[in-house]
Amino acid sequence: MNDMNIHPSIKANLPEPFSAQHLINGAWTASKDVFERISPSHGVVVSRSAKGGVKETEAAIEAARTAFDAGTWSRISGKERAAFLLKVADLIEANVERIAVQETLESGKPISQSRGEVEGAADLWRYAASLARTTQGDSHNTLGEDMLAMVMKEPIGVVSIITPWNFPFWILSQKLPFALAAGCTVVVKPSEMTPSSTVMLGELLMEAGLPKGVCNIVLGYGEPVGSLMSTHEDVDMVTFTGSTPVGKKITEASSSTLKKVALELGGKNAQVIFPDAVLESAVDAVVFGVYFNVGQCCNSSSRIIVHEDIAEEFIARVVELSKDVAFGDPLDPETQVGAIVTPEHNAKIEAYVRDAAAAGAKVQLGGNPLEVPGLGNQFYQPTIISDVSPDMAIAREEVFGPVLTVLTFKTLDEAIQLTNDTVYGLSAGVWSENVHTCLEFARRAQAGTVWTNTWMDGYPELAFGGMKESGQGREIGRYGFEEFLEVKSVVMRVGRTRASWVKPRKNTRGN
Ligand code: NAD
Repeated sequence: MNDMNIHPSIKANLPEPFSAQHLINGAWTASKDVFERISPSHGVVVSRSAKGGVKETEAAIEAARTAFDAGTWSRISGKERAAFLLKVADLIEANVERIAVQETLESGKPISQSRGEVEGAADLWRYAASLARTTQGDSHNTLGEDMLAMVMKEPIGVVSIITPWNFPFWILSQKLPFALAAGCTVVVKPSEMTPSSTVMLGELLMEAGLPKGVCNIVLGYGEPVGSLMSTHEDVDMVTFTGSTPVGKKITEASSSTLKKVALELGGKNAQVIFPDAVLESAVDAVVFGVYFNVGQCCNSSSRIIVHEDIAEEFIARVVELSKDVAFGDPLDPETQVGAIVTPEHNAKIEAYVRDAAAAGAKVQLGGNPLEVPGLGNQFYQPTIISDVSPDMAIAREEVFGPVLTVLTFKTLDEAIQLTNDTVYGLSAGVWSENVHTCLEFARRAQAGTVWTNTWMDGYPELAFGGMKESGQGREIGRYGFEEFLEVKSVVMRVGRTRASWVKPRKNTRGN
């Protein structure tokens, strides 16, 4: 962003840059080097963070390993772990404003959305607390008269948590409380673009009394921090949310030690609209689905597949409603859509739109970076592209911007084929008043989540994750929690019978 574009009165009212350090073995730790984050919406430095390297990462992993093996967290009761998680939830609620403002300044997302995400994260901590007390396995009492067995769950060990910039606090809360509820110890690396809210959460963990070494935070870049967190032999599992290319690198890096890897990656999610849908609701959900978080969202409904009988009317209604969405200053509580994360990313979005137009697609709305008065041009216009063919990059790849592509269909089979015609499999949606249409779509869509007559609702109780190149494993809900648990079978002889694999030999020596 061009600093000259920012109005001086806006700059004057911003808080001092947040100063962030690593949390290693219960102590806040500086580094020789520091990195800065410039706000994408306000063009000023909003945080200065210690830049971790190999030394800090190794120290954090060692602290997590030592704490895990000592049992100060891994072997305490579920009741004690639950009490701690509930305390953290209360502290998050007491600190919503401070965390939300910093999240908005670093990410460019609207303040109303940041507040909602931080408040919502407290509920994830509360739900995880309920799991800490209800972890259980199986008993087997039908194995024979003298045998009894149980299948026990135990924490998997030391977990590396690597998070992206688009929902920093929310995604951390989809992982960390669940890992802690299971009894794991962790090393967390937030994105280099949004480190502060993770550090603020670290402060709350210390305030709540977490034993040293249970949660460690290392700030810095993928190389060397994230990379070492994926290869180190003392790490038992990596849980990563981010791009598909980095997810593949992590899988490769972790293979030398065969540690468990859980991945939440990209998406190219479609909403399919049938002629019998309640169009007013579908139009609203399409507009929400593509502009929420400026489209910088794994769950963005960046494609719609609309029945050809209603396509023209539907596109016209989406274009009209798009004009009413409040794009602007993320610190304004009325703003619904904020800034693009970096100038490079804005240029990438622009290139997708330009290439599609050059290949014959029609720009129905927008198609250019957006200048917000007083804030510069690191924003992008709401954009709708029709006459898109399924082979165009804009129809298949993750654009990660406020750009909607429109495809059309004639039959249910064709709609499902188009929905699944991507390497991704994160989410999909269907709009129809016919329950059979909705259920057939839900059964055949290759996606970890299917919404019918709604979009992007989520609950801590449900599982979230992707098929195909959208990831592996699941997050949140009981399935997400189980990812952090090992399963151990314990087989016990309980009767008075004696083991007798070796039959007594015949006495051949005559004694
Ligand atoms: P990214 O992959 O560039 O970075 C994510 C994290 O990985 C950052 O902390 C980064 O520092 C780290 N990293 C980079 N290189 C690494 C390496 N070699 N080893 C280990 N760590 C490394 O992703 P991003 O740009 O921050 O986030 C956007 C992407 O995240 C999009 O593709 C989006 O779809 C995806 N995402 C997915 C979900 C989901 O739940 N499926 C949710 C949010 C975002």
